[in-house]
Amino acid sequence: MNPLRPLIRLLPVLLAFTATPRAATPPAFEEIRKIDVHSHLFEDAPVFHDLFRRLNLRTVNVCVPGGDGHLATMDRVARHLYRIEPTLYPFTATFDVTGHAAPDYAAKVIAWLDAAFAGGAVAVKIWKEVGIGIRDESGRFVLPDDPRFDPIYAHLARRGKPLHAHLAEPIDAWLPLDPASPHHGYYSTNPQWHLHGKPEFPSHAAIIAARDNILRKHPTLVVLAAHLGSLEHDLDGIARRLEAFPNLQIEVAARTRNLTRHPPERVRALFARFPDRILYGLDSGWKPHLREQPPTDRQRQAHATQLEVRYRADFAYYAGQGEILHSGRKTEALGLPRETLERFFHGNAERLLRLPEAWAGR
Ligand SMILES: [Zn+2]
Repeated sequence: MNPLRPLIRLLPVLLAFTATPRAATPPAFEEIRKIDVHSHLFEDAPVFHDLFRRLNLRTVNVCVPGGDGHLATMDRVARHLYRIEPTLYPFTATFDVTGHAAPDYAAKVIAWLDAAFAGGAVAVKIWKEVGIGIRDESGRFVLPDDPRFDPIYAHLARRGKPLHAHLAEPIDAWLPLDPASPHHGYYSTNPQWHLHGKPEFPSHAAIIAARDNILRKHPTLVVLAAHLGSLEHDLDGIARRLEAFPNLQIEVAARTRNLTRHPPERVRALFARFPDRILYGLDSGWKPHLREQPPTDRQRQAHATQLEVRYRADFAYYAGQGEILHSGRKTEALGLPRETLERFFHGNAERLLRLPEAWAGR
C-alpha cells in the first residue's frame, strides 16, 4: 500500500479546513459575554449568582407589573440584588399604573422613578396592562399614548432612561386558539389575556399605533420594545418601524421561538440590516413574593437548571450552525457573524442601558 494514501485521502478534508475562515467557527457559549435584558429574578440566592457567573451572563432585572400591588417589594429586592451584585443585576424600575386619575399622578410617578434611578435603575418598564388591562374614569381602556403618561415619558427622555415597553401581545391573542401556535400554552391557561371574540378590547393594531405615537410625540425617548415589539409575526413591520423611529430598539425575549418559525435567511437579513438595534433577552420569572410558600432549594436548583437549558438553546439558534432543536422543534441555526453576536448579546445593551463594560468575577 502506498504509505501516502491515507494522507491523500485526507487532503480534501485538510484543504476544506484551511479554506474555512476562522470566523465561521461558532464561538463557544461561555466565550461570548451575554446580557439578558429581560429577566425577573426576585430573590437573593447563591445558586443564581453562581449560575450567571459560570455562564458569563448578567441579567437586567425587570420590575413588573405596575398594577399588582407588589411595586415596593420588587423595588426593594431589585435594589438589594443590585447592591450586592451590581454586575449581575442591573435593574429596570416600573411605576404605579393604577392611580392615573389623580391630579398629581405624573408628579408622584416622576418622584418614585427618580428615587429608583438614584438607587441604580437603568430603565423603566411599562407592561401590557396599559392598553388591555387598566381603564379610565369612563371605563375605556387607557392606551399607552394617553396624555396622562406624557410628562412621565418626557421625564425619561430628559433623564436618558429607556422605556422598556411590553405593549400589546402576540397577534395570536386576537386570533382563535391554535394548538400549532407557540403561544397556545399561554393563552389556553391565561384566558384573561386571550382577546379573541372580545370586541370591547382595543385591537392589536390600535395598541401598536399607540406605541408608534409615543415615539412620534417623544422623539428623544429611547424605547426598547419587548418581545419583538409584539410584531413577532411581521418581520417587515419590525423593519419599517426601526427605519422610521431611530430611537426604537427591539428585544427578542420569549420570542426566539417565533423567530425560529421564519425562514432563516429573512431573520439573518433583519440582523444584517439592524445590527445595533436588536437585543437579547429570555424573560424568565422567579417571583417568590407571588407564592404562598417560600421556594425550596430543590425548586431553586430546578429553576437554575431550566435557565441554563434555555440560555444554551437560544445561543445555539443565534450562534450555532446547521439543524438544531429549539422549543421542541427542528430548526436551522442562524450562524450570525461574531461581530453581530457581540452586539446582540451584550454590546447594544451596554450602550443603550449605559452598563459598564468591565465584568467583575471573570
Ligand atoms: Zn417579562
